This record gives sequence, C-alpha cells and structure tokens, in this order.
Amino acid sequence: MAPRLPLIALAVSLSIAFSGCAQVPPQATADGSPEVSPSPSETLEIQAQDADILMDRNGLVTATGFATDEARGVWTERMLALNSALSEVRLGDLAQDWDGDIAVKLPADAAAFLAKTGKAADSFAAATACEAGKSQVYISPEIPDDDPDGIAAVLLHESVHVMTNSPCGEPGPQWISEGIAESVTASVYSFVAGENEELVRAYLADNDVPKTLPDLDAPAGVAGQLGVALSQYAVNAAIEELGRDKALKMLGGLAKQEAVAAAAKPESQKQLKDLTSWYLRLVKGLK
Ligand SMILES: [Zn+2]
Repeated sequence: MAPRLPLIALAVSLSIAFSGCAQVPPQATADGSPEVSPSPSETLEIQAQDADILMDRNGLVTATGFATDEARGVWTERMLALNSALSEVRLGDLAQDWDGDIAVKLPADAAAFLAKTGKAADSFAAATACEAGKSQVYISPEIPDDDPDGIAAVLLHESVHVMTNSPCGEPGPQWISEGIAESVTASVYSFVAGENEELVRAYLADNDVPKTLPDLDAPAGVAGQLGVALSQYAVNAAIEELGRDKALKMLGGLAKQEAVAAAAKPESQKQLKDLTSWYLRLVKGLK
C-alpha cells in the first residue's frame, strides 16, 4: 500500500482571466499503449515545462508541451489509467452537464500554479479551477513523482470536480463537493479509504465526536486532508442511508440551494438535520 501524497487536493472556485493561457493546438496524440511504463523509482524531468493534457470520454489522450517523450508517455499512461477508473464512476445528474473532457495542465513552476489556482504548490498536490466556464485541473509542479498511486487518486478526485463542474458551479458548502470527490476516490482506491479512516480515528482519539457537518469554509473549520476525510464520511453516511442515487440528488440540490440562499427553507433544514444525524452516527462508530 503506497502512502498517499502528503499534500491535499481541493477544488477552488476562481474566476480567472485567461488572457495569458490560450489553448495550444495539439501537436501529438496518443491513443493506445504508450511505450513507457511508469516506475515508482523513476525520476522524470517533468516539472520544468508547461504541459497540457486533454482526454475525451473515449480515452483519447492529447498531450502537448512535455520536454521528453518519456514524460509524455508516463502522463499519457496515467490518464489512460484514470479513464479506466472513471468507467466505475456513477454521478447521475450531478454530471449531466459534463462534456466528457478531462483537461489537465502541469504549470511550469510554483508561481504559475499559484497564479492559476490561488493555491501554494507546496501545500496542494492539485487544484481544479474554473477557466472560461469549464473546470480545469492543475497539477502542482511539486507533486511527488515517485508515488504513482497517490497521483492516480489525486487525478480521480480532481476529475470528479470536473465532472460535477464544482469550481464553476454555484458555490455550495465545500464539504459537499469535497465529500463527493473523496467518496468516489475512496470507493475506487481502497488505500484512500484506509488512510482517511486512520486520519479520522486519530482525530477522534483526541477530540470529541463532531456536533455538526464538517465546515471547510470557515477559517476555524476543519482544514486539510482531515476536512476532506470528514466530508467523505458525511457523504458516505448519506449514501448508506438513502442509497447512492437519492443521496447524490439530495446533496446536489443542497449545493445549489445554498447558492441562492435557500438553505433556510424548511425542506433544506430537514435534509441538513438528517444528514447531520447520519454523519454523527457514522463517525461515532469510529471513536
Ligand atoms: Zn477536492
């Protein structure tokens, strides 16, 4: 079991003017078995460049801007593995507006990553930002390159943000978008589920069981991977109670209602109360 990245991956909702980020026409396309297989011990010269990868819903990968064929091959293979993981993902109506593309950029340096995402490259493995109305994944130039499992999990987590268009969508509570992305990731990669469980158990060993749903938006709220892990439990609690389709529908509705300040509606209040009690019950079981 590979250790997860010591970095956290969060979506950011940013409106960015992309005058300096015109789309580069594809120069090379890979659609099948890349010649190079990634090896955990390999160190690749992938950071000092500005690379773009686009994968469509058929798994056609277009990769440009890589300094070496080797680096391009490794990232192409990572995207093809992502495509296979995505085939297990069922998001229902939450992904109804997704066009099937996953666009990933590898900014050349920390300054470029910060400019695009508003996040520090040494604290975030990746972030998804809104670019011209479309969600776009940015990979930190400081992502540890010797952890292929961690990178696969980060790519899947960010892809869920793309599929639900959470960075461009109406801003609901962050625990919903983070919880859905992490719940999907943990259901595909058991090591993610295991590490998040460890994190929550360690937290509960020193703290009381939470009394409210995780608040990732408040400055004093739970931060980092612990916040993402608790959000995963909040979403999982709803799925266990209602089944996947109904739970995602309810969560998607609440994310939208929050945006129009309708959370005070009696129906939303009732749903949030139910969600809170299911979440607390699930988390209490880990204490
Ligand atoms: Zn996220």
